[in-house]
Amino acid sequence: MSNRRTFAIISHPDAGKTTLTEKLLLQGGAIHLAGEVKARGAARRARSDWMKIEQQRGISVTSSVMTFEKDGITFNLLDTPGHEDFSEDTYRTLTAVDSAIMVIDAAKGIEPQTRKLFEVCRLRSVPIITFVNKVDREGRSIFETLDEVADALALDVSPQSAPLGMGGLFTGVLDFASGTVARPEGESREYRGKRDAPGDLPEDLAEEIELTRIGYPEFDLEAYRNGDLTPVFFGSALKNFGVEELIAAIARWAPPPRPQPAGEDQITPDRDEVTGFIFKVQANMDPNHRDRIAFMRQVSGTFKRGMKLTPSGLGKPIAIHSPILFMAQDRELADTAQAGDIIGIPNHGTLRVGDTLSEKNQIRFTGLPNFAPEILRRVVLRDPTKTKQLRKALDDLSEEGVIQVFYPEIGGQWIVGVVGQLQLDVLVSRLEAEYKVEAVLEASPFATARWLAGDAKAMDEFESFNRANLARDRDGDLVFMAKSVWDVNYQQERNPDLTFSATKER
Ligand code: GDP
Repeated sequence: MSNRRTFAIISHPDAGKTTLTEKLLLQGGAIHLAGEVKARGAARRARSDWMKIEQQRGISVTSSVMTFEKDGITFNLLDTPGHEDFSEDTYRTLTAVDSAIMVIDAAKGIEPQTRKLFEVCRLRSVPIITFVNKVDREGRSIFETLDEVADALALDVSPQSAPLGMGGLFTGVLDFASGTVARPEGESREYRGKRDAPGDLPEDLAEEIELTRIGYPEFDLEAYRNGDLTPVFFGSALKNFGVEELIAAIARWAPPPRPQPAGEDQITPDRDEVTGFIFKVQANMDPNHRDRIAFMRQVSGTFKRGMKLTPSGLGKPIAIHSPILFMAQDRELADTAQAGDIIGIPNHGTLRVGDTLSEKNQIRFTGLPNFAPEILRRVVLRDPTKTKQLRKALDDLSEEGVIQVFYPEIGGQWIVGVVGQLQLDVLVSRLEAEYKVEAVLEASPFATARWLAGDAKAMDEFESFNRANLARDRDGDLVFMAKSVWDVNYQQERNPDLTFSATKER
């Protein structure tokens, strides 16, 4: 069986994702100093002009990939931007993982961003391990947290550990499987490896622990793998409690690389042929160079450096001479990679988000959707002679997945669509920095968009009556631009032969 575990951490900002990431990497021996994750990120960001936004807002726009190894297991951790403002990047990253850790702040419970990311995981039946963080501080009661997760997310919860007291009364974390308590040590009250028996607990605490152990479902691997049950660990990323248990749980329970849908077929990891799909494209850190890195999630086969793969969008093979493996400390040149691994492929715009790469060019992965934009804006040029540059820029940036672009059938007012406000800021700043195009974004009459499908006759008919509300996307596909969701429903009712789709599979 594969020794790969490819996963992401989902959480609301401030719940402790960065801290937990550092601790996971530390345990995996990938970094030696806590704090390096953020520091290294900052140094890298400084090199890029358009990423100034990240610095100004103190957030991370781009996702990265971190790989570490422990006890013979290779962990690929894909970082999802942890900002309240959503981007399509975040969604797409979750299409490339096999499982997720959901980090919850013990005092705050389920927060909006956690819930949104959770819903994306549920859509794809991505199994989730829950980490209730910050038990070294005053938090909600164990039951309150467990019941909230169960109710809010409609999941079975199966507690695997419990904090002995919280805040000032915190004396360690009891691991149910081993029956041992991880204890705080030293002035920092961190966990440094000291474990012992629980000893005599005060009566109310003993009762609370007992109810936690017997009052909830037992762990069930199948229910977890189906996304119906989440094992719950309590801990403190900052003080290192629960991190060991979390890694062990991923190694033991989290699914190895899963088959990926390709139309009617499922491509399994044991297929001989190397296959994968692009889930993210990132521009070069140096804005003067047009090259990009495409992130491929490998689905099957054994990849070797120099291998020729055919991108579905290009139709002819390219040799992958300098693939990048994202080791936590450094980017290392990959010689081989397996199903579940992520490979960075430098290119000049030939690779697009959603592309399939394969040796035989016979399959197409499905399930990497474009999402109906929730914000639509008209792009207005300050200098009207720059139309050509703008078109090029919008095409490029939509290929990268920064925005979606819609070219209306009537009139020359191009429209961009995004799912999060932040994507618009990135657009404007990159237009200026990289394409020397000054543009402003103005309100558009449309509120959302739907991809149209149906037989040719029905499509033609609809088109002739609704031209003013129709646009073509980057691929030339027909899109209905709606003034409201009500509008969508109305048209759907009147045109039962057409489908109005909120996602588009590529
Ligand atoms: P992110 O926004 O989810 O990446 O959260 P961070 O990892 O940056 O953590 C947010 C804040 O919570 C920081 O000030 C951390 O030091 C703090 N923090 C993280 N984990 C813990 C914990 O287990 N206990 C306590 N007391 N603070 C924590």
